[in-house]
Amino acid sequence: MNRKMTCIVCPRGCEMDVEYDKNTFIGVKNNFCSKGEEYAKNEIISPKRVITSTVKVIDGDLLVLPVKTDKPVNKEKIFDIIKKIYQVKVIAPVMINDVLISNIDDNGANLVATSNTFSITK
Ligand code: SF4
Repeated sequence: MNRKMTCIVCPRGCEMDVEYDKNTFIGVKNNFCSKGEEYAKNEIISPKRVITSTVKVIDGDLLVLPVKTDKPVNKEKIFDIIKKIYQVKVIAPVMINDVLISNIDDNGANLVATSNTFSITK
């Protein structure tokens, strides 16, 4: 089978032609560099994404705190992970890169803060 795939590794956004058979990667054309091949292979064998979201903040100067996974997680786990993220409430202060949930995907990815929030009470 063949399919068109846009490489999202860099802003060039190569439109690649990917050949595969079920979950077996066969080859790729029209990728400008080898990162495109790696991306296409992962998309066929085991697609992953970084999740970005927000969590509620208690006692902070922000009402919600932006967060992300510090590694891409398997696409099939995304909805379960988002359900976990919706349950999270953090108490300020929280600093950028603080780990809010370790191993959120049971595969080594952590949920981390991508901003600071400071306490509004002293
Ligand atoms: S194949 Fe290489 S140049 Fe093309 S979008 Fe992917 S990373 Fe960028």
